[in-house]
Amino acid sequence: MLDRSVLVLNKGWTPIAITTVKRSFSLVFQDHALIVHPETYEMHNFESWLVEFSARADAATPDRDGWLRTASLLIRIPEVIVLGRYNGVPRRELVFSRRNIYRRDGFACQYCGNRPGLKQLSIDHVIPVSKGGKTCWENCVVACIRCNTRKGNRTPDQAEMPLRSRPGKPTWNDGVGQGEVVPQSWARFVTSDRGA
Ligand SMILES: [Zn+2]
Repeated sequence: MLDRSVLVLNKGWTPIAITTVKRSFSLVFQDHALIVHPETYEMHNFESWLVEFSARADAATPDRDGWLRTASLLIRIPEVIVLGRYNGVPRRELVFSRRNIYRRDGFACQYCGNRPGLKQLSIDHVIPVSKGGKTCWENCVVACIRCNTRKGNRTPDQAEMPLRSRPGKPTWNDGVGQGEVVPQSWARFVTSDRGA
């Protein structure tokens, strides 16, 4: 639940990023962002969100999906947040993370194209670290363990294992996971080009 996607809007209500529920709550806790009501688009800080969208943990909620259970409370998870009193320039790109590399590459090995499942996947440094390769969007790809082992400490050229696509920094809307249901509340802000 904490890993669900949350749409991030800037002060002008333009979508600029996708983050997780966990990070959203953290931004809201710190007063960097407000939660947008999924139906009315009213803005809530953490306290007013709790007033509107929390229940005792033992309460029967009509729809358990979309609610986060804490020790004492059920809290509805945010779908959209808007950055408010945010002094820094918000990042326009996704956070570099293992999870986002998996998402960018569609959970497919970038050498053989297979999708063997998460347990058989790894992150490969295209140029090996030992040869000066950096840990960055442009040098990290998803590889199945088999291909990663076969490639070993070599470049794709040396291993004669060409990449299926050139890795790069994804744009924010690449952050939605495949098969992930985009909340209705996003529709006002995002034009879906995924045919969903
Ligand atoms: Zn492979």
